[in-house]
This record gives sequence, C-alpha cells and structure tokens, in this order.
Amino acid sequence: MSELSRRGFFGAIGAKVTNKEIVIRPPYAKESTLFGTECPQCSGMCGTMCEEEIIKFGDDKTPYLDFSSSGCTDCEACLEACEPGVLNDKTIFIEAKVKINATKCMSWENVMCFSCKEPCLDDAIIFEGLFRPEISAEKCTACGFCIGRCPTGAIEIVA
Ligand code: SF4
Ligand code: SF4
Ligand code: SF4
Repeated sequence: MSELSRRGFFGAIGAKVTNKEIVIRPPYAKESTLFGTECPQCSGMCGTMCEEEIIKFGDDKTPYLDFSSSGCTDCEACLEACEPGVLNDKTIFIEAKVKINATKCMSWENVMCFSCKEPCLDDAIIFEGLFRPEISAEKCTACGFCIGRCPTGAIEIVA
C-alpha cells in the first residue's frame, strides 16, 4: 500500500481533537502574519484542493487544520493553490507539537492499545514494551494522522 493510500485509509476513522484553543495553520507558510492579512480576501482554494479535507476556515476567514478525521500527506496541493503566496515555502511543514496526555491514554493504564502507532508512518510513537507510549519530538512531523485515531482523545496539540 502506498504512503498516500495508506494514510488515506488509516486516516478515515475519526475522533474529536481535544485541544481546540490552539490554531494550527496549514504547512508551507514562512510568514504567519500573512494568514491574517491575505487570507480573508481569498476564495480559500487551499481548502478546496486539500483531498484530506483538513483545511477549515475560522470566522475570521483564515485557514486552520482540523485533524479530527485525517492528517496532512505533505502533498503540496494547498501550496500550489495559494495564489496570494501565503503558502510558499516547501521546506516549512506544520508548526505544532504533538503529545500524548498520559492521564487520558489507556495504555498508560496498562490497557493494550496501538491505535495511534499504526497510522504513524514516521514511527514517532515509542512504546515502553507494550505500554506507556510517548511521541518522539525528533521524529514527529505533526502530520496529525494519529490524533483522530485515539479512542480516548489522548493525543493533543500543545503550545
Ligand atoms: S499538504 Fe496536502 S494534505 Fe496537507 S494540508 Fe496541504 S493540501 Fe492538505
Ligand atoms: S489559498 Fe492561501 S491566501 Fe487563500 S486562504 Fe488559503 S492560505 Fe490563505
Ligand atoms: S506521532 Fe507525529 S508523525 Fe506520528 S502520526 Fe502523530 S503527528 Fe504524525
């Protein structure tokens, strides 16, 4: 199974993202202030072109990522679609930190669960034996695919 189709398959099942206060912007943005100055005047083609349908728009008409049902495949479709050039740098990916909240994670209560491990193609979720998973800050790309797969909403975006 290719990376894209695998991601699409595993990303299809969703749960709620728990931390809604933190706004995660689409990838490829070198200058984050442009979201506020350019996006409100734009037709939002980045959201239209995102096959994973993770780009949503706030009341202020700026785009944000919603990982509740899928994640980012790094396909660059949003960058190609962004005429104002807010998304313009392929070397910059999603600016976010992803962590497992041990107080919500079943595996930290010695219940076997590998729901998050499977969709992580970067192998960033490290288990201590069969339990106690943690996300490697070095390996995690913040793609978001694990977030909606956690049955207890234990994977969170942190500031
Ligand atoms: S890179 Fe692709 S999957 Fe990721 S947000 Fe952009 S269009 Fe969506
Ligand atoms: S296409 Fe570019 S300018 Fe338009 S909403 Fe998306 S990120 Fe903003
Ligand atoms: S741990 Fe990081 S790299 Fe792995 S699926 Fe989750 S967000 Fe993506």
